[in-house]
Order: sequence, then C-alpha cells, then structure tokens
Amino acid sequence: MKVLIAGGGIGGLTLSLMLHARGVETRVFEQSRSIGELGVGINTLPHAIAELDELGLLPALDAVALRTRRLIYKTAQGLDIVAQPRGAWAGFSAPQFSIHRGRLQGVIHDAARDRLGEDAVQTDRRLISFEETNSSVTATFASRNGTTFEESGDVLIGADGIHSTIRTHYYPDQGPPSWNGVLMWRGAAWWPRFLDGASMIVAGGMSRKLVLYPIAHDPERPGEALTNWVICAKLGDGNTPIPGRDDWSRRAPVEEALGMAEGHLSIPETDIFALIRATSEIFVYPMCDRDALPRWSHGRVTLLGDAAHPMYPVGSNGASQAILDARDLADRLAEGGDPIKALADYDAARRPATAAIVDSNRSGGPERVIDFVEARAPEGYSDVNDVATPDELRAIVGDYEDLAGFSRAMH
Ligand SMILES: Cc1cc2nc3c(=O)[nH]c(=O)nc-3n(C[C@H](O)[C@H](O)[C@H](O)COP(=O)(O)OP(=O)(O)OC[C@H]3O[C@@H](n4cnc5c(N)ncnc54)[C@H](O)[C@@H]3O)c2cc1C
Repeated sequence: MKVLIAGGGIGGLTLSLMLHARGVETRVFEQSRSIGELGVGINTLPHAIAELDELGLLPALDAVALRTRRLIYKTAQGLDIVAQPRGAWAGFSAPQFSIHRGRLQGVIHDAARDRLGEDAVQTDRRLISFEETNSSVTATFASRNGTTFEESGDVLIGADGIHSTIRTHYYPDQGPPSWNGVLMWRGAAWWPRFLDGASMIVAGGMSRKLVLYPIAHDPERPGEALTNWVICAKLGDGNTPIPGRDDWSRRAPVEEALGMAEGHLSIPETDIFALIRATSEIFVYPMCDRDALPRWSHGRVTLLGDAAHPMYPVGSNGASQAILDARDLADRLAEGGDPIKALADYDAARRPATAAIVDSNRSGGPERVIDFVEARAPEGYSDVNDVATPDELRAIVGDYEDLAGFSRAMH
C-alpha cells in the first residue's frame, strides 16, 4: 500500500505520521516552497490531542503550547455568562492546547521528517491533476520553475485545504467558499497575563465578537504571555461576495481592527485596544465555509480536513476534526484490505459527523450561548441567573460538545 497525500497542513502531515506508525508507505506533497510558521492562534480539543499523544508528540507540544484551563463566555460588554473548565481541568485524559498554528504544524512536520525521512514530505509540489486506473492512481505535481512530476500510489488523499484541487475536480461548479458576512481581524502579541494565564475568553455574539487566549509563555518574559486575539465583525448579509480573496495571510492596518472593536467590545480582564495597538502584524480573514458534500470518496481518491469540510472557526474544531479524520482513515488503510472500500467506509463514518459540526457552526456553535443571553438582556444585567438558568446555558454549550465528539469520549 502506498498513499499519496496532497497538502502538508496539519491534516496531511498528521495522516502521514499515523500511516507510518502503522507500517504504510506514504508521501506528502505540499505546494508551498517551505513549511513555515503561518497563521496565528488555534485551539485543539482533547480528543484530537489524545491522537497526537499516541504519536508521541505531547512533550514537543507542551514545549511550544499552553494547556487551556478555562473557557469563559461573556457578553460584548464583558459580563460573565458561563465558564467551563477545559482539558485536564474538565477531567479529560488529554489536554486542550492553545497554540500558534505554525508551531503545531511545525511539531508535526518535524516528526514526519525525522520518522519518514526527508523525501517523504516534498515541498514546491502543487497537485495539478490526477488519473485513476483499475489498480492505481497517478498524480501530477508542478513546481514553481515550471517542471512537472508524476507519482503513482494506491490511493490519493486531498488534504489540500479550503481551495482543494481535488474537491474542485469532483465538484467543478461549487464556486467560491460561502461567506456569512463576518470578517475576522487576528493577531498575537506579548502581553501581561490575564486571569490565571491559561484562560480563553469569548465575548460577544455573532455580530461583534472578541476571542482572546494566550498561546505561549516564555521564562524570559515572566508575567507575560503571547496573547492571541480575534475581533469578528458582521459587515455583510452573506449574499455579498467575499471582499478580497480568502487568504489566511492577508494583512490589515491596526486602525481597521481598532475601529471594529472600539465602542462595541470591552472586557475588564485586559485592555484589548492597547493589545491591538501593540500587535505588529494583523491579518484579516473572512468567516467562510462550504456546503457539506454528498460524497468525499471517489474510487481511490478522497478528501480530508478543510478540503472535505471547511467550517467556521468556532468551537476549536478546524484542526481537531482534521486530526480525527486522519485517525479514522489511517486505521482503515492499515487494515490492508481493498483500498476503495477503506475510502468508502471512511467517507460513511466521517462525513456525517463533520457535516453536523459545519451546520452547527453556522449558527454560532457553542458561542450561540452569547447571542442567546444578549438577546434576552440587551441592556446587560448584574446577575446572569436573572437572565437564564444554568440548565439553559449548559444545554447550548454541552450539546455542542456532544456534537464535536469530545464530551463523553474522553472522560
Ligand atoms: C496559511 C494558513 C494559515 C492558517 N491560519 C489559521 C489560523 O490562524 N487560525 C485558524 O483557526 N486556522 C488557520 N488555518 C486553517 C487551519 O490550519 C485548518 O482549518 C486546519 O488546520 C485543518 O487543516 P488542513 O490540513 O485540512 O488544511 P490547511 O491547514 O489549509 O492545509 C492545507 C495545505 O495544503 C496545501 N495545498 C493547497 N493546495 C495544494 C495543492 N494543489 N497541492 C499541494 N498542496 C496544496 C496548502 O498550502 C496547505 O499547506 C490556516 C490555514 C493556512 C493554510
């Protein structure tokens, strides 16, 4: 069995490590010239971290990430709604990590290079086409200097992100990602720690939201944390086209981000406006996803991660679900039976599970609890218990944990 993987993001690289651990030959082809530290903060759920732990990556992750202790939902004006312990503090056997996306990818990439060899992860290889026969699939990759390369294997996995070439091959009329009208300004800066130094705050509903969490500590900067922030603002109705391309690396001026936050968002824990001003690189990205597909697997070819189920980044599921896809697929391919059946079974197991999350995230996922409280008490409150019962609040955030598959599985 030889598995070709297009895309060296978190999903593709994790799959390569899992296949290698099961004795399956695999090659990853990444379009970028190198795998660098791109992106800002990301959160990964305990059941996904348990999979990375099984690959022996926990010490490396602990060295570059923070174990998330608590998630606090607040109104846009900083009033407390509900707080949940996370990871080990919630009784899970594995932690939830707040981490720089590039560092998470780096840990997985370093392990893949060490274990599979330099040649197993090839950069500057953009998948441009593929052809399937009765017994194999041949993929063609292009490099930036115009050269093309062919590689054959038993199966081809499209882990090539939201603009997946493989997905477009099967669904040529899908069009661009769908946008819900929300733009997200994102950045990270070294900043005085707030609360216990390991808490995440989500403040404000779908129309104006702050997401704030530390992603790294440094012994040489005691009292500070590399602090990730996101300001979300709803500027369109979802029928307007995405302003600019949905590119994770698109920069924005500091005034733009400040303008979205000032007068709309504030929390007592820290001065978010000063934090935004202290951030040297600010990125802007539209909140977009794609409709769930009727099918991921076609013969010897399938999709994984964002290529299969791009979703709004709420509920910490983007990277987590890609890792869970990888586990399911690696197990099935390692059984050594008919690869076409393995891909079909993977599709049947993972597609409905992730489609439900894509759908729930469209209405805010667990963060719906904020819209719920803000709608009931638009002028604010002194005690949230006057606005909603603990059962009402827990029903929203708890249902989502069930959906994301980490509520009971890990206890
Ligand atoms: C540059 C970048 C920055 C991001 N930053 C954030 C962030 O700050 N916060 C957040 O929550 N999420 C971020 N994401 C998204 C997040 O990483 C994913 O939602 C999640 O990790 C699932 O990963 P994935 O491997 O399925 O897809 P991705 O992480 O998108 O990885 C797909 C990979 O495939 C490669 N690729 C694409 N087309 C081809 C092709 N034709 N041939 C070969 N390779 C190809 C891409 O270069 C990329 O490395 C970012 C994604 C990218 C690509």
